[in-house]
Amino acid sequence: MFTIKCPACGVEGSMSLIDAGYIGPYRCWSCHALFTIEIKNNQMTAYKPLSEEELKRQQELKKLQDKNKKREE
Ligand SMILES: [Zn+2]
Repeated sequence: MFTIKCPACGVEGSMSLIDAGYIGPYRCWSCHALFTIEIKNNQMTAYKPLSEEELKRQQELKKLQDKNKKREE
């Protein structure tokens, strides 16, 4: 379990990581701020604000990629 301190409000949240690294969206459970975060070696190395529209776009992109993957199998 990885603990993330929300860059906006400072409240700690947690997420489970498969690897020690992660790049992707994070939503604060307290203030609902959205960020794209980058974790390396269990440390948050970078973050930038993410808009709802951008998140939706990313999720749809991922859905498409997953679909394509299934087709290839
Ligand atoms: Zn927050």
